[in-house]
Amino acid sequence: MCSDGDDVNAVCPKCGGPSNEGLCDLCALESTELLSCPERIEITVCSVCGAKLIKGKWVPSQASVGELAYDAACSAICAHEGLSKPNLDVKLIKTGATRYMAMADLKGTFRSMPAEAGCRLEVRILSMACDRCSRRAGRYFESTIQVRASSREPTEREMEVSKKMALEMAEAGYKHGDQLSFVQDIKATQGGLDIVLGSTQLGRQISKVISERFGGRITETSKLVGQRDGRDLCRSTLLVRLPKFKLGDIIRFRAAVHEVAGFEGKRVYLTTLKGGHKTVITDDEVEDARILGNRNKARKATVVAGDERILEIMDPDTYKVVLAPRPHGLEVQPGQEVQIVRAGDEYIVLE
Ligand SMILES: [Zn+2]
Ligand SMILES: [Zn+2]
Repeated sequence: MCSDGDDVNAVCPKCGGPSNEGLCDLCALESTELLSCPERIEITVCSVCGAKLIKGKWVPSQASVGELAYDAACSAICAHEGLSKPNLDVKLIKTGATRYMAMADLKGTFRSMPAEAGCRLEVRILSMACDRCSRRAGRYFESTIQVRASSREPTEREMEVSKKMALEMAEAGYKHGDQLSFVQDIKATQGGLDIVLGSTQLGRQISKVISERFGGRITETSKLVGQRDGRDLCRSTLLVRLPKFKLGDIIRFRAAVHEVAGFEGKRVYLTTLKGGHKTVITDDEVEDARILGNRNKARKATVVAGDERILEIMDPDTYKVVLAPRPHGLEVQPGQEVQIVRAGDEYIVLE
């Protein structure tokens, strides 16, 4: 450090007092701005949903305006890096409908001397509607999912689940920063459900998830409806045609009784009730199969007697004893209950 090596004691150029190097500690402290603090900052908040505009992007927020003002004030105030053990205390008071005053008090240690500084900062709140809220208010939409079914109407459950998935996926997309990820409307229409959405991308995601859950095919059509902000505005319709069959349907197909176990695109997974054999067929092939019932509507019935192939059970409605084929390997004793599906005069015992 010292070129001469003789005298380590230098002189402070400001006060002439002793100093190791350059300004003495006291003069250094006096000439250092310990706290940098703008006089005023502005934050832009959506008056509808509370989102905050950060670097030109709307970011969802659950915080109150006061909390946002406090956070903005804290991040605008900077303690000098030469300060060790800095302790910054910020108090915020509301001074008007859209104004806050933040008062900062800083304590710390500067070159082993206790140091202190304070400042005031005005926070102004600008409120406006974010992209998403203004589009929603303007009834903006880009995509409609039509949930329909082949040769039947979608069930209550299929519609409820579709609706729930749409709302959850729109919310998740919004939280990931997609301003167009919103549900504009959900309405029951003749033959099904219409889900009206802010973007086609969201429409595609939701219809894919619906068809993965319930099977069926998606047909997308789109048309140009005009321009918005200098860009072509297209609207798409995504028709989700649910299959004739539902999960848990008990069907007679190619002389055997099967349960519909799952879907994947055009494929339908079946399991035979007798033996539990698995088959995969396309939804075209399964069109002429006959629905006998659904596992969700199965009833409990008491077994009266039985052998390896046939069970005698009591019809829970008529209390008559009826016969039903015994599923392969089903362990059941007289007096115990089994799940049954009734199709006309036929009784099917489920495993
Ligand atoms: Zn000095
Ligand atoms: Zn908003």
